[in-house]
Amino acid sequence: MVKTYDIKSKQLSPHFNVSEFRCKCGKEHSTLIADELIDKLEQLYTALGCSKIIVSSGYRCAAHDKSVGGSGTGQHTLGKAADICCYGQDGKPIVSYLVCCAAEDVGLSGIARINDSYTHVDVRSGHWFGDETKGNSYCIPCSSFYEYYDVQKTAKPLKIGIDISLYQNKIDWGKLTSDFVIIKAGQRDYTDPLYEQHYKAATDAGIPVGAYWYGEAKTVAEARKEADCFIERLRGKKFAYPVYYDVEGDMLDLDSKALSAVVDAFLSRVEKAGYWVGLYMSGSPMHDKISADVLRRYALWVADTRGQQPTYITSYGMWQYSHTGKVAGVTGDVDLDYCYTDYPTQIKAKGLNGYGKADPVEIQPDPVPAPTPDDGIPVRLEIGNQTYVGRLDKV
Ligand SMILES: [Zn+2]
Ligand SMILES: [Zn+2]
Repeated sequence: MVKTYDIKSKQLSPHFNVSEFRCKCGKEHSTLIADELIDKLEQLYTALGCSKIIVSSGYRCAAHDKSVGGSGTGQHTLGKAADICCYGQDGKPIVSYLVCCAAEDVGLSGIARINDSYTHVDVRSGHWFGDETKGNSYCIPCSSFYEYYDVQKTAKPLKIGIDISLYQNKIDWGKLTSDFVIIKAGQRDYTDPLYEQHYKAATDAGIPVGAYWYGEAKTVAEARKEADCFIERLRGKKFAYPVYYDVEGDMLDLDSKALSAVVDAFLSRVEKAGYWVGLYMSGSPMHDKISADVLRRYALWVADTRGQQPTYITSYGMWQYSHTGKVAGVTGDVDLDYCYTDYPTQIKAKGLNGYGKADPVEIQPDPVPAPTPDDGIPVRLEIGNQTYVGRLDKV
């Protein structure tokens, strides 16, 4: 529905205000804005992981539309259009051709690339995809911007969640709209001060949770110790999302081989205790330092806040796309995460992460090499319906 606003400033949604849509002709008149346009702009904001969207032109009266080269009857004069520049988490404009693709995904019906950084979007009743760099009314010759710009379509997130630690000490769980929450369990050998509280509150609010352990290990032996500390904190609780090893900071000083071994030692140990495990890292060290077999073996949660979905790492289940997110129910900045995998269904089906009927098996101490018997041979005998196995030792 198109609404008429006679006031200069009114917040329309979390990121948009009437003032941004006012006609720039300089005369005092009301502003028309379609609700649907604001809804779609908010969806675009989320889809692109924006830090801000600047509206360079919103509503235009007929005279102003003509003065900027329009027909005087176009979508801007109906309050259904906006020319926008979308900024990523790095504070730089996201290139217009990617904005066009995302605008198509959220269902904006009129979209055109204006130049490298600016994009026209509208909610017309028909459909128009254009490329104004080739002329004001140039219509792209195919049905999708992905095809036109040869952009590979990235997976759509299933869920949007947050990850929290002691720094999120004021959460209004009744207001929180997050699909899931990943909770810091601890670090080195101590428990995060809010771990128990966060776990209980999220569970009481019916929000599925995962957990992470902030790593500091420099050796395989230290990684195993950390794993045991983590397992202790996980016992008796249920996690519908994976439990992650958070690798950052000083750990990145290790060379690729040593770091991969440390990560593998931690994750394989927690996995043996009955958990669906994963690795959390910033994208570029994950790509540069972790061996391919470790990347293939575990669930991946990649952090990259530059505004575009990472493509240099494949098959990750989660992408942390912002450190400065704002969500209802959380005071201050919070990390935001897209999840592309239905972990809860798979984890429950496999009976992992506390969802099993029996308690997970006790973790075994580090394996001691078995003594090699000298000159013995294994034997297997079948007599009647019975099978007998054993060893014959040389005397
Ligand atoms: Zn005007
Ligand atoms: Zn426009």
